[in-house]
Amino acid sequence: MVLVDEAPLTGIDTERLAADLSAICSTEQAFWRNEQHPYPFQNYLFQVMVSHDGYGGLEHTNSTALMTSRASLPRLHQKTSKAYEDFLGLCAHEYFHVWLVKRIKPEGLIHPQLDDAVITPLLWIFEGFTSLYDDWMLLRSERIKPAELLTRWSDSLTRTLTTVGAAQQSLADASREAWIKFYQPNENSANSQVSYYTRGMATSLLLLAELQQQGVHLDNLLHRWWQDWQDNPKQALNPSKLKDDLTSLCPHINWALWLAQHVEQPNPQLAAQLALALPSIGLVLTAKLQPSLGVKLAEEQGALVVKQVTLDSPAQSAGWQVGDELIALSDWRVRNNTQVEQQLASWQANPNSPALSVVLARKGYLITSHIQPALMATAYDLAAINESSLTWLTP
Ligand SMILES: [Zn+2]
Repeated sequence: MVLVDEAPLTGIDTERLAADLSAICSTEQAFWRNEQHPYPFQNYLFQVMVSHDGYGGLEHTNSTALMTSRASLPRLHQKTSKAYEDFLGLCAHEYFHVWLVKRIKPEGLIHPQLDDAVITPLLWIFEGFTSLYDDWMLLRSERIKPAELLTRWSDSLTRTLTTVGAAQQSLADASREAWIKFYQPNENSANSQVSYYTRGMATSLLLLAELQQQGVHLDNLLHRWWQDWQDNPKQALNPSKLKDDLTSLCPHINWALWLAQHVEQPNPQLAAQLALALPSIGLVLTAKLQPSLGVKLAEEQGALVVKQVTLDSPAQSAGWQVGDELIALSDWRVRNNTQVEQQLASWQANPNSPALSVVLARKGYLITSHIQPALMATAYDLAAINESSLTWLTP
């Protein structure tokens, strides 16, 4: 691993970093290893650009280019931070791509035409599975404990299950339309789109549960694809091979129907489907309901500005628009999100809660109206029924 920073890099616990990285890479190599191809490369390099607040990565065949924040690096004589765990998760993610996407590839990416967009409906597999396995590899390499893995998975599930765009866009379309939608987001994206990363992760968790109920581990599907690559590296993954591979691993499920319902069509029922399926693998999913207006507000130069209005939410019913400035709520001046939350909490505490008075500024004109908050799922929590029910976590 090479770390590059404009500022002097001092006080970094490089030994801890090397030990953690080595454990993660060994675990992933063991996950994919077999006799013919112990490793698909001679050397592998993590190239890391360190900055104030960077985060992200790009996979290459035998290396990765990463961005991370200074605060995410482990410091000498300091305990492990959540930011460092995130950085290790990012390393695990890009390293997993060595096999899944840089060798096992979707159709169209074997000989891509790089002067045009290359369209595939399968990014949910390549980024979704990788998003499920990156955190999982932190557990399998004993960098985190099961409870920490469930917290990390809960965070990913919250990001997608609280998004109403699932009623509009299917997972396959999220993948096909990545070039024109995912990479060109607008103020309505959360209402009309899903992320093939987090939605793909959540759908692969559902797939895992359904396979596990039939006695098949999801690892087996990945191992089959790796064997197929070794038999013929030019053989790409496409929707029909995906269906056939699932059918041969687990013939008791109608996979054409399953993929149509969960991948090809918009699937706003994913939270309910997960809540139903996960107890069979020892997990319970619960939604955290909180009073909400259904808006995203950002603090900008002393003003509280509406950045996003959720479809079918109290804010949409009350006619709020992106760009409105929220000045007062329930007769109180509000200047930040904490003050809005305080007003919503006191609304919830009152059993006969009436609608709240609102003052908005729109294009310089003051608008006085009312809004009735609603209880909405703002977070999801994944918990173990008991430790012994989680043996599939460490196969
Ligand atoms: Zn990725």
